[in-house]
Amino acid sequence: MTDDSTLADDAAPVSPCHRGIFTIAGVIPSQLQWRDMTYEPLRGKIWTVSEGINRSIFIEGKTGVIAFDTFGSPMGAIAYRSAIDRVLPGKPVHTLVYTHDHLDHTGYAADFAPDARIVAHELTQNVIVARQSDGQLPATETWSGETAWCEIDGVRFLLVYPGPTHGDGNCAAWFPDLKLLFMVDTIIPGVGYTFLPDWHLASYIPTLTRLLALEWDVFVPGHFWLTDRDGFAENVRWYEAVAETAQEAIADGVDVDSLHEVTRYAHERLAADHGALFRFNEYAGMNLLRYVYEFVHGGWGVEGNTPACHAPLEVPHAH
Ligand SMILES: [Zn+2]
Repeated sequence: MTDDSTLADDAAPVSPCHRGIFTIAGVIPSQLQWRDMTYEPLRGKIWTVSEGINRSIFIEGKTGVIAFDTFGSPMGAIAYRSAIDRVLPGKPVHTLVYTHDHLDHTGYAADFAPDARIVAHELTQNVIVARQSDGQLPATETWSGETAWCEIDGVRFLLVYPGPTHGDGNCAAWFPDLKLLFMVDTIIPGVGYTFLPDWHLASYIPTLTRLLALEWDVFVPGHFWLTDRDGFAENVRWYEAVAETAQEAIADGVDVDSLHEVTRYAHERLAADHGALFRFNEYAGMNLLRYVYEFVHGGWGVEGNTPACHAPLEVPHAH
């Protein structure tokens, strides 16, 4: 072996997949790990797909597929695409809709459907363009405001941006004929997700509550399993309880620099009414700590300090 070939090996790409915003050298094994997807028909032509943690939907159109989001790794995106190809063989994914900007849901269109038309809210697009993450493709079409009817390949749904909730431009998709609402990283079964990353808490509850004006009875979340209007209300009650308990923790002089102390307080105050919620033991302390810092810091950035819109959500006439 000559020195030249050694140089050639060094110059070869270390990974054939997209790397997101990772800066460490070499392959990132967890990003290249195969994900087993489970999928099932929901209503009409809508399917839901999950690897156990994240969840999305895709819809069969007349000539192809409209898919939401990409999952959070190159191999997750490839597994998602394989699941669609198995369920709807021969139908191309011609349209991809982004729910919001986060890489764990929309980071890998380049591995999922690189040639698809991509639709996103302009607030989502702003972050994606600024971030320049390897594999997260910018949208090819953006929309703005609160609502946009989509009529794509025989499939009709309303995109709804109710205001700041989580991430940037996070929108729901409402399928009125099927009474189904899909929204990622807001309502989930159980307590809030981990430490409520990039949640905009000041306006969160009233903004989210606007979605109750729409007619639906099944809610498809971006994590875990399906829920309904009762599950929606239960999740909102949790946020209300944590918001109040956070203020009481500060008033009581709890050491808010200590996750241990905040977790102890969360269990003491919240377990009686909410302890049966999914992942209470894992996340209650982190949820409370996040809310504590909302009251210590104020909301974060513009989205975290935008007053909630309390006006009823208006559904525009479809044209
Ligand atoms: Zn997110």
